[in-house]
Amino acid sequence: MSAQVIDGKAIAARVRADVAGDVERFTAENGGARPGLATILVGDDPASAMYVGGKQKACKEVGMEGFNYPLAGDVPREEVVELIERLNDDPAVSGILCQLPVPPHLDGVELTSLIDASKDVDGLTPVSAGLLALGRDGLRPCTPSGVIELLAAAGAGLEGAEAVVIGRSNLFGKPMAQLLLGANATVTTCHSRTRDLAEVSRRADVLIAAVGRAQMVKADWVKPGATVIDVGMNRADGRLVGDVDFAAVKEVARAITPVPGGVGPMTIAFLLRNTLKAARWQRAGGR
Ligand code: NAP
Repeated sequence: MSAQVIDGKAIAARVRADVAGDVERFTAENGGARPGLATILVGDDPASAMYVGGKQKACKEVGMEGFNYPLAGDVPREEVVELIERLNDDPAVSGILCQLPVPPHLDGVELTSLIDASKDVDGLTPVSAGLLALGRDGLRPCTPSGVIELLAAAGAGLEGAEAVVIGRSNLFGKPMAQLLLGANATVTTCHSRTRDLAEVSRRADVLIAAVGRAQMVKADWVKPGATVIDVGMNRADGRLVGDVDFAAVKEVARAITPVPGGVGPMTIAFLLRNTLKAARWQRAGGR
């Protein structure tokens, strides 16, 4: 039987509608002051500019303020640092996002770590990563949070389940594994040195692929009845494809995300949710 296709577009639209309602209430209770997201874009990489544009547009659509700071590709480090410090102190700014990657003369990890943890809406600072590892309240990275929402919407029980994450990036794989652990799954994280990836993947009740290799995960890597989440975004033959061989795996899995229209739309939805959470913290006087 063919798998349930998890409609990330519809689920993300629901999250965004919820956030819009909450923003309206927040703004009314807050004397008309709206949550605000500041984005920092260094250089003129077209893909980065498109992502930042999408984030700013989404902010407006849910009633938040958006502040974009485009900086020249050769901006000195000190100028970026000063901007982040100014935004950390600005009460109109609830959340700060430095679009990665930054040009090679800058260190994206160092710059991100300067963002105040209470405004870290990407959830990537060492403080946010530490809070996640400790299981304490904090701002969580957006894409893995979106995946947890997709799994809940698809009815994939995580308690005691075998979860396998392929990929160990700081942006996705590591926080994904921590969130699954927090949801009481038994978690295995795989990477380029994992021996017999297919064999490990076949153990999974929940299989999550975030590698960046088109259609790498084949049908015989998947346990019948598993839930498969495809985070990959790869260009192949002029179209966007995931890390999972969708057509074949759909005949084995219980539920699966498509690419596009699966995980992708969840990232911005959770950025908005994080910005609202950060605004509430600041109104309450801190985390
Ligand atoms: P990344 O930093 O390049 O990490 C890729 C991971 O895959 C690494 O841990 C790497 O292992 C592992 N890997 C590479 N080749 C492998 C192989 N043959 N077998 C097993 N593991 C292998 O990428 P990322 O930032 O996590 O992103 C992964 C994919 O997800 C990309 O396609 C990206 O575009 C997509 N993505 C989508 C969203 C979204 O919003 N939809 C968000 C984030 C990422 P090593 O650590 O050993 O090198």
